[in-house]
Amino acid sequence: MKQAQPDQGLDITPVSVLKGVGPRNAERLAAIGVNTVQDVLFHLPYRYQDRTRIMPVDSLRAGDQAVVEGVVGSCDIHLGRRRALLVRISDGSGLLTLRFFHFSAAQKAGLAAGIRLRCFGEVRSGPATLEMIHPEYERIDGHEPMPVEECLTPVYPTTGGMHQLTWRGMTDKALVLLQQQPQRLPEWLPEQLRRLYRLPDLSAALRYLHRPPADAPQAQLLEGRHPAQRRLVFEELVAHQLSLGQLRQRRRLNAAAVLDRGNLLRHRLLDSLPFSLTGAQLRAVDEIAADLKRDRPMMRLLQGDVGSGKTVVAALAALQALEAHYQVALMAPTELLAEQHLRSFSAWLLPLGIDILWLTSRQRGKAREALLARLASGDAGLVMGTQALFQNDVEFGRLGLVIIDEQHSFGVHQRMALREKGGGNGKVPHQLSMTATPIPRTLAMTAYADLDLSVIDELPPGRLPVATVVLPASRRTDVVERVRAACALGRQAYWVCTLIEESEALECEAAEETAMQLGRMLPELRIGLVHGRLKASEKESVMQAFQQRKVDLLVATTVIEVGVDVPNASLMIIENPERLGLAQLHQLRGRVGRGAVESHCVLMYQNSLSANARQRLAVMRESNDGFFIAQKDLELRGAGEVLGTRQTGEMQFRIADLVRDSGLLNEVRQAAALLLQQYPERVAPLVKRWIGAREQYIDA
Ligand code: ADP
Ligand code: MG
Repeated sequence: MKQAQPDQGLDITPVSVLKGVGPRNAERLAAIGVNTVQDVLFHLPYRYQDRTRIMPVDSLRAGDQAVVEGVVGSCDIHLGRRRALLVRISDGSGLLTLRFFHFSAAQKAGLAAGIRLRCFGEVRSGPATLEMIHPEYERIDGHEPMPVEECLTPVYPTTGGMHQLTWRGMTDKALVLLQQQPQRLPEWLPEQLRRLYRLPDLSAALRYLHRPPADAPQAQLLEGRHPAQRRLVFEELVAHQLSLGQLRQRRRLNAAAVLDRGNLLRHRLLDSLPFSLTGAQLRAVDEIAADLKRDRPMMRLLQGDVGSGKTVVAALAALQALEAHYQVALMAPTELLAEQHLRSFSAWLLPLGIDILWLTSRQRGKAREALLARLASGDAGLVMGTQALFQNDVEFGRLGLVIIDEQHSFGVHQRMALREKGGGNGKVPHQLSMTATPIPRTLAMTAYADLDLSVIDELPPGRLPVATVVLPASRRTDVVERVRAACALGRQAYWVCTLIEESEALECEAAEETAMQLGRMLPELRIGLVHGRLKASEKESVMQAFQQRKVDLLVATTVIEVGVDVPNASLMIIENPERLGLAQLHQLRGRVGRGAVESHCVLMYQNSLSANARQRLAVMRESNDGFFIAQKDLELRGAGEVLGTRQTGEMQFRIADLVRDSGLLNEVRQAAALLLQQYPERVAPLVKRWIGAREQYIDA
């Protein structure tokens, strides 16, 4: 280990300089990402105990954690269902029982009648009096009253083998270091900003959070809304914003092909479509077209609700690249979805004389080699497929544009890998990502601050909202009758068995079981089944049969979530919807409501719903608006769910929480801009403090 320098920053001072942190603890700390003294300081308590006051027994309520002091009245072994030592103490205001299931004879002797005790523990109700089970306690011998704690006692998130006392010892020492040499943890937020947003300075905030005064507002601290917490959150979010800004700047330094050789193909496609684009689509098309004509790589996210018509926008972008004699690669997260794109693109582009290549991981041998050769030569224009597109042996001769559908399904590595495949001569391809996850705008501007955003916030005309009902599983027979009635009218229906998270196998079994059962109840219907365990070719043929109306009822797992487009399907049953997030339910439901007749969706839940689940399903019943639903999902579930991997994989916050702190995001953006303008020298250290090595990862 490096020797600690007396003056070095706490961000590079190893935890081992703190007395009491030996190699074993250092190792345990490293496992949870705590390597430096700064890490220790940023490791905040998640709750506090109040040991600053001695509470009268008659003021206690079950659930409180409290210090009490009293004299032992009796101390007996109780032989009930479970042998226990019961110690009854009195403080003059009332009686309290201390209950020990594990105890020694010596311990019992030390708790004899007449002895004065101070104890701390959680209060619960007991058969005779309020109780504390296995409280911490100490004897009070002298006449001098022992001091109580001056601060609230912090409770730290911890890891196996690290006791709270160890944490308190470490943070004590780290705080002393900080007090003696504050310059070792510099304040990067200028005073101007701190005054403007009423934020305490860094070391004051840290000191407060590790050792809050006795009268600190505990409820506010628990919610993470105390000014001391907001100060740290603010700094972290600013750092994040600056980091994404740097990333964007660096990308701008790359050169890209100028895709500007006329609009002939694009106009021919527009002329051949049976519909005209919505205003929102036209806006997105224009934004993309302008980007593609620049010599810097586009990094744009196209966001639009299910059914808003992103595919045709992507096709128009592809034509602009093809017309300029550059290659286009379109990548989708699942084969099913890639095939769907292949169908749409084939219908639109084959008549224009454009050849489409298809690449999946199942292609092997000669056929694959021939395909790869065509891509490498730059002769093939448009290729579509799955992850297979960014495998190492795939090379492009003149890749000009990469289109990624449902981009949250891909890790940053995968997306970058495709970008690296470049257009030769040092150029980077333009990139268009698409997502149907409608992310509230303030959130998107922070989470995707490195991307430009186009939003399709309008559905094609004539779409009817999907009428949604929420029913208990006990109404299953009625629901089956609804399916029968809908199919009798020539419509088609989906029956979705939701994911049993841990096991795809179980989920597939459940779907098979359901399909069989429905087959018995609805013998007149043609029933198809798709789930994740089927071979892609099997899935494909079932989907095709459904599309061609050769199947009336499609029993499926959530594999049909994205992309599937069968306008004649007008009824969807979703089993156990309470297991899914609202965004996912909304995506699923988006499979119906694509035709001219009114569609219905039945959310069929298992017996009892939690209050939160009830609220979430009510949101689905009341709204068809993806943005509204996303906002609710955000409130009811958390940003991680809304953002998918973006949050969990690439954008972890130490202290900030995008939902709780979303009210800060506008100020955060302003603060970041001000720092860039007036304090540019502080940007790098701020980013380093909060994002550090992870930023390199993002930029990998
Ligand atoms: P998503 O945004 O969910 O990917 P799609 O691109 O699959 O939506 O479009 C859904 C359906 O709407 C497709 O059948 C598509 O051809 C059709 N569509 C797209 N744009 C329009 C429009 N402007 N008017 C009418 N139908 C449209
Ligand atoms: Mg789509």
